Amino acid sequence: MVLPDRSISASRYDGPLPEGFLSRLRAQLEDYDIPLQQRGHQLTARYTQADITLRLDHAGFAVQIAAEGEVPLHQCRESVIYFLDAALPEASARMTWSDVNARRTPPNFHLAAVLGTRPISPGFLRVEMACDGIAALQEGGMHFSLLLPPEGTTPRWPELTEQGRTIWPDGACALHRAAYTFVWLDAKAGRFAFDIFEHEGGRTTDWARRARPGETVGVMGPGGGEFPEADHILLAGDETALPAIRRILEQSPADRRGTVILETASEQHRPALILPEGMALRWITRGHGGGLGAALNEVRGLEDGQFVWVAAEKSVVRSAKAHFKELGLPRERGYFSAYWTKG
Ligand SMILES: Cc1cc2nc3c(=O)[nH]c(=O)nc-3n(C[C@H](O)[C@H](O)[C@H](O)COP(=O)(O)OP(=O)(O)OC[C@H]3O[C@@H](n4cnc5c(N)ncnc54)[C@H](O)[C@@H]3O)c2cc1C
Repeated sequence: MVLPDRSISASRYDGPLPEGFLSRLRAQLEDYDIPLQQRGHQLTARYTQADITLRLDHAGFAVQIAAEGEVPLHQCRESVIYFLDAALPEASARMTWSDVNARRTPPNFHLAAVLGTRPISPGFLRVEMACDGIAALQEGGMHFSLLLPPEGTTPRWPELTEQGRTIWPDGACALHRAAYTFVWLDAKAGRFAFDIFEHEGGRTTDWARRARPGETVGVMGPGGGEFPEADHILLAGDETALPAIRRILEQSPADRRGTVILETASEQHRPALILPEGMALRWITRGHGGGLGAALNEVRGLEDGQFVWVAAEKSVVRSAKAHFKELGLPRERGYFSAYWTKG
């Protein structure tokens, strides 16, 4: 059933389908932990605040996406195109979609101008930005992608094709993309802020150290990252996760219980955090003992209904995910996200 006020985008493919097409597609979606249902020849799934229905018929298949708004519709369509590209590239390349806006840039793309940067605590820079598209960035998670054009070039931004695909500038015009977390977002003033953990060799770190007021960059979002709901929670991460953990703590009910485990490069890199009374904070210094990975592996049991939220370097997150799976954590009570990868 389509609810009123929902935006719809639909497409179909007429042609032969390989054996096991639907099962392959289903397995791909399951790999991404996307909730789905299969009834006969029909697959329904919920992703990025949108509902996907894909139905096989005598001639091929029809697919429909319904979402509350242009941005989630676009984001979900991009994901469906991505999955179809992998499952059946020859079909996906030929498919056209209804309700693709003929504008030049994707609806989740915005320009943002630097207002200022300043150190806020050892190792962290706060960047404040002005952005006209801020209203669209408010709903749909606490993250976004920062898009930096190559130094000294006239920026080229992503463009939307008539088929609903985002085409990214490449070669000498390729944009550097990195995910960040809104520290605050003021829709009325058209401003937002984010914190960068400074690390050597980081393109974004270099940019922020030199950025001047008025400089324009691209912003794409919202980029997911819901606030977990649970009475009991384990929050764990390194410096890159600090802004997200701080936001989750700010949104936490006063009677929330649980633990925060944070790994930092040194004791200096530990800003003050405000926690609900029933939550404990444990700091870990990287390079001392086994670090965050070992601390998480020491967790021996789960509380009833506990949520586990982990964001850090990829290998740490991977081992934590395996450990909590072994402890019996249900998929829907965990968030495990690789925030960066060791180079
Ligand atoms: C959803 C999400 C939200 C995030 N929010 C934040 C945030 O609010 N603040 C924040 O600072 N980061 C955040 N991150 C992490 C950030 O996107 C990565 O650290 C990213 O690699 C930074 O890009 P860069 O341009 O600085 O470095 P890149 O050009 O991507 O990488 C250059 C080199 O730096 C190394 N590197 C990357 N990150 C680190 C690190 N943390 N420590 C040491 N070496 C590193 C890489 O291995 C690589 O060798 C978030 C990531 C995700 C997925």
